[in-house]
Amino acid sequence: MAIRQIRTLGDESLTKVCKPVKEMNPHTHQLINDMFDTMYDGGGCGLAAPQVGVRKQIFVMDVEDGNRYVLINPQILSTEGSQTGLEGCLSVPGKNGQVTRAEKVRVRALNESMEEYELEGEGLLARCILHEYDHLQGKLYVDLVEGELLDADAGEEEQ
Ligand code: ZN
Repeated sequence: MAIRQIRTLGDESLTKVCKPVKEMNPHTHQLINDMFDTMYDGGGCGLAAPQVGVRKQIFVMDVEDGNRYVLINPQILSTEGSQTGLEGCLSVPGKNGQVTRAEKVRVRALNESMEEYELEGEGLLARCILHEYDHLQGKLYVDLVEGELLDADAGEEEQ
């Protein structure tokens, strides 16, 4: 178990477009394990590689639906509907804000074995997919917040 340092707002690794992963190797496998450890330690439901300073198209999620998701080189296939709700980010500690996202999203990605799969998310899972996908494009939710960035109550989900 290894917890990596989470980069926060202002760190340039959060504003770079990430590179596709070409092959799985022990180094990347370790990165993914560390990302889960770091996400659980921070109390988040998602974490993207650039948040630990790695410019690779990888994110992990656990929205407490019984699954641990690994998405490598993800592509958004379609989105549907909209939802507006509070969103936070482990890279912007202690804050959250209202963000409108699609209610449903369909994404294609590689899993940890570099096998292609598709995932359909709704509600929180859709929000999390879109939030983490943005990280891989060097984008942060703070640019999507409607109104003010708020002070978060302790214990709220962060991504
Ligand atoms: Zn985030």
